[in-house]
Amino acid sequence: SAAAPLLRVTGLRVAYGGIQAVKGISLDVAAGELVSLIGANGAGKTTTLKAITGSLAAAGGDIEFLGRSIRGQGPWELVKQGLVMVPEGRGMFTRMTITENLQMGAFVRRDADVAADIDRVFSIFPRLKERRNQLAGTMSGGEQQMLAMGRGLMARPKLLLLDEPSMGLSPLMVDKIFEVVGDIHAQGTTILLVEQNASRALELASRGYVMESGEVTMGGAADDLLHDPKVRAAYLGE
Ligand code: ATP
Repeated sequence: SAAAPLLRVTGLRVAYGGIQAVKGISLDVAAGELVSLIGANGAGKTTTLKAITGSLAAAGGDIEFLGRSIRGQGPWELVKQGLVMVPEGRGMFTRMTITENLQMGAFVRRDADVAADIDRVFSIFPRLKERRNQLAGTMSGGEQQMLAMGRGLMARPKLLLLDEPSMGLSPLMVDKIFEVVGDIHAQGTTILLVEQNASRALELASRGYVMESGEVTMGGAADDLLHDPKVRAAYLGE
């Protein structure tokens, strides 16, 4: 049989006070995959990512990473193990330069290869290299998204969780961001991509899941989901 998936979520439940935002979902991501999680605003996608990465406590179910349960571990411990989330809204250190923000992304690491990794990030995002001494807070939304992804890469993720990277960006910048997500995946990083832009997210992925009101209601090959009449009606504007 196949090796254990990199990430396996089973029966995950998350609540805010008495409100169940995630109601017992299961999903998995194998090493090397790009999996997309789509669904409407408020479906519970961000909550799911936060529970996986340890910034929200699970009320039930289990989360396994690299074959071991990680439920109850905090974000810091999980980043060290290679489970890295790039949050929606980006959270840059606005009064630090681009280079300093990237260095912060490597803070959990013990090795001395930070400069080489910054060069790799600059090769993926030439715009960041041009502006490396600029303060992060003075950059455009698209540039800040690039920096957030670059900072995530600095932690050398085994699994990169991207929360709505295309949110609020111009059409040109949306194209650029999806292109780069594809490049990062092609260079060997496993990705779980949360997006409201369902068509773009499914075009890039090999598999996908659909979330509605805290539940995973569909899952399968991205191509099948792209051609599914229910998905097309609900998420692709048909
Ligand atoms: P979005 O695209 O808006 O981020 P989402 O699919 O990521 O949507 P979540 O943000 O996970 O959805 O929200 C799931 C549900 O949990 C929603 O009903 C939302 O109102 C609720 N919720 C989210 N954060 C909180 C919070 N801090 N306190 C209470 N309820 C919350």
